Amino acid sequence: MIDDIPEAIRETPPTSPKSSSAMPILGGILGLGVVVGGLIWFFASQPSPKAPVETGKTDTEVASGIQSTSNTEIIESPPTETVPETEPIENVLGHLPYEQAKPSELVPITADGSIRLKKSAATEFKKMQSSARREGIILTAISGFRDEATQQYLFFEVKKNRRQDTSTRAEVSAPPGYSEHHTGYAIDIGDGKVPATNLNTNFEKTSAFRWLEKNAARYSFELSFPRDNPQGISYEPWHWRYVGDRHSLETFYKVRNLK
Ligand SMILES: [Zn+2]
Repeated sequence: MIDDIPEAIRETPPTSPKSSSAMPILGGILGLGVVVGGLIWFFASQPSPKAPVETGKTDTEVASGIQSTSNTEIIESPPTETVPETEPIENVLGHLPYEQAKPSELVPITADGSIRLKKSAATEFKKMQSSARREGIILTAISGFRDEATQQYLFFEVKKNRRQDTSTRAEVSAPPGYSEHHTGYAIDIGDGKVPATNLNTNFEKTSAFRWLEKNAARYSFELSFPRDNPQGISYEPWHWRYVGDRHSLETFYKVRNLK
């Protein structure tokens, strides 16, 4: 019985064991908390090894990024090359700007020295003139090199006298700074036998013009303003330009892609 009492006491403990049995639950919860905490720590510690993986990815991304940027660079570079092509050509009413020849570069092509061309052009013109003469054709030089002051007069003063509007004047004369005559490579040619056709479209009917059409290219002269020229300048059968060396060729063709 005494033993029973302790048993009873022991019974009471069973209630306490119940509470003590709650302890393991709590402990279990705590344990779970520890485990969960441990898991959290584990996963928390996981990202650190993941982080290098991510940096590894970012490295590959960087690597691929370099490739993609290099690709975009390749794509971008052609447009920058094509941009100048789409830029409008500097011109005034169809006339292109020309650098004025230096006086030291000019050589007379007439006896009185009043008409001058750049040396290369002058030499070839004289050869062409001699060749034509041997065939009975008189090629006369009407105008060669002109400075900007002369062109200033020809464009503005003649324009006033003729009461021409600017665009009409520009069809037949270049504004100062925009004449091929500034270069020393351009020459207006007449037929010595038919001076009435000088600076006139009737010049195309002369034997001199027909001779030039056939032979001028042999001396590297070409017609600057043929009919329906892309610059929109009126037909000038008398106006020829020399394109027989690098500088003259670049002068007339380097930036020229008018359409
Ligand atoms: Zn001319």
